[in-house]
Amino acid sequence: MTTWVLASENAGKVAEFNHLLSELGIHVRSMGEFGLTGAEETGESFVENALLKARHVARATGLPALADDSGLAVDALGGAPGIYSARYAGAHGDDVANYQKLLADLADAQSRAAQFVCALALVRSANDPLPLIAMGLWHGTILQQPAGTNGFGYDPVFQPNGSALSAAQMAPQDKAAVSHRGLALQELRRQL
Ligand code: IMP
Repeated sequence: MTTWVLASENAGKVAEFNHLLSELGIHVRSMGEFGLTGAEETGESFVENALLKARHVARATGLPALADDSGLAVDALGGAPGIYSARYAGAHGDDVANYQKLLADLADAQSRAAQFVCALALVRSANDPLPLIAMGLWHGTILQQPAGTNGFGYDPVFQPNGSALSAAQMAPQDKAAVSHRGLALQELRRQL
């Protein structure tokens, strides 16, 4: 097995990546196992932040590193909340405050089109000049009101195109099969 370090301490993400990559002979370990904390996310795009995070972990461990950066981009808001999705309403990780602010910001909007975005970056070393980059976009609409209790973040206010359910009303495995993260992972596997 080849070991990669994931630039995240989220056990759910580690399990999700292992699920999809183990059949390629890749074992993913959390950066927490190496006593690492995250890099400063100073990029201006999902891709730039994913690369910053991956290089930071590769530099500290000497191992290949994988990082993801994700969020919600709303057309009528010029792509906001974008890379600031987790802290849109100020307090980091307050999901309800974040989506309530989004609904307020869209009160008079002509369009409610949006997409979840996931960028994955894999570097074989800290200075890898040829990183693998995989993107996944999940297109949909921002609902007028929250619906559903599954998932996290903006799931209750996001309705994927072609679905009658919000992302928070979908079963977790159904969401994983079609979501931005699922699509980005499939694309990474294709590149590998
Ligand atoms: P992270 O890249 O996993 O830290 O995600 C950044 C932020 O984007 C999260 O805190 C959520 O607000 C939002 N986000 C990313 N992916 C999803 C998703 O699948 N559903 C809902 N919100 C998401």
